[in-house]
Amino acid sequence: MTTPQSWEARADESSLYGFTDLPSVHERGAVIVTHGEGPYIFDVNGKRYLDANSGLWNMVAGFDNKPLAEAAKAQYDRFPGYHAFFGRMSDQTVLLSEKLVEVSPFERGRVFYTNSGSEANDTMVKMLWFLHASEDNPKRRKILTRWNAYHGVTAVSASMTGKPYNEVFGLPLEGFIHLTCPHYWRFGEEGETEEEFTARLAAELEDTIKREGADTIAGFFAEPVMGAGGVIPPSKGYFQAIAPILKKYDIPLISDEVICGFGRTGNTWGCETYGFTPDAIISSKNLTAGLFPMGAVILGPELADRVQAAVEKIEEFPHGFTASGHPVGCAIALKAIDVVMNDGLAENVKRLAPRLEAGLRAIMDRSDNIGELRGIGFMWALEAVKDKATKTPFDGSLSVSERIANTCTDLGLICRPLGQSIVLCPPFILTEEQMDEMFEKLEQALNKVFAEVA
Ligand code: PMP
Repeated sequence: MTTPQSWEARADESSLYGFTDLPSVHERGAVIVTHGEGPYIFDVNGKRYLDANSGLWNMVAGFDNKPLAEAAKAQYDRFPGYHAFFGRMSDQTVLLSEKLVEVSPFERGRVFYTNSGSEANDTMVKMLWFLHASEDNPKRRKILTRWNAYHGVTAVSASMTGKPYNEVFGLPLEGFIHLTCPHYWRFGEEGETEEEFTARLAAELEDTIKREGADTIAGFFAEPVMGAGGVIPPSKGYFQAIAPILKKYDIPLISDEVICGFGRTGNTWGCETYGFTPDAIISSKNLTAGLFPMGAVILGPELADRVQAAVEKIEEFPHGFTASGHPVGCAIALKAIDVVMNDGLAENVKRLAPRLEAGLRAIMDRSDNIGELRGIGFMWALEAVKDKATKTPFDGSLSVSERIANTCTDLGLICRPLGQSIVLCPPFILTEEQMDEMFEKLEQALNKVFAEVA
């Protein structure tokens, strides 16, 4: 509750909220967080919440991982900051690039650093424009993505994002083309099999390339599992169907692994889980287990060679951020990769993912108002529907998913409303008992809200 001198009131006075439903926060007050323990966060009033969102998908090692904090402190003490311009960079930057190539699906590669996932996608687009221009294909500038995709908020990455809310900014920019979202349950047509749906999307891709002209297209970007679109795994055989088409027209396939990377889907990379090899990977979030703002473009061998040749030709890649390859960020990322891959976190996702799925499926089976459970690894969504048989959604004005998330918050569980879905993407350290707490509170909230709106 907001009172005149409360933290909530001060936040309301002093801060501009991003991606926040303002009427709801005015009514309920913001949650002002002071600290965390494992997967839990605590607010200024001492209330504890199980954060089943891992912050924003990124705090995969929880909120008090000591080895990560110690790695940060050690690097701050040793060399607290530097850049990667003018032929200089920190030793930690070199070590991390080597490590990222080593753990990538690529035999060889090159890495470029940013401060965020949005900037990494922007950087990749500029790199492609730079590359095609240097190879005498300056018309290759259009970018293919999908409706419901989320690639970020900067002008270019927001143009790649397939969400109608970007219209308020006059986006997308020209030349950003959105293809059908590969969500069979929602977009499959009456009588269409999943295989036929996938074939239809592959045909749409090829038709689009032919219509626009392959020589005008710079690249295709895709999240292996769409995250902020509502946790949407690809339809069966999707990447196997589209990858050869992109190859045929010489269009680079970029895997945006900002969410899927480093264990979220149960393997190191989402592209590994879905059996395709991209030309480059975009990484952020889990890269530093959320402890440092950092993104990376990881180029596979062919793009690495071609981009390097383009840079040699022009003698400079005129791009970079002050904090690109920041030594503290790199030291944290090196530790985070080690913690996630070698301290049992990735293992925990693999081991507990079937339990997580089974628990959520049981909740769905007990409810008349959950139409679909979708996800993989430690990323899942339950889709609320008014009518299970017809998949009819609730009236948007009821704000059903927001009400469920707010009720969860009251019960001490953080989960995220996305469209008509409730998203659960817990930290990789989650235990069985904590998972049961999540199931219990979630089901309690679902029952309460569905009883109110039914
Ligand atoms: N790509 C994907 C797949 C994402 O989920 C996000 C963030 N949710 C971004 C890019 C943008 O990352 P950032 O918020 O760090 O700019």
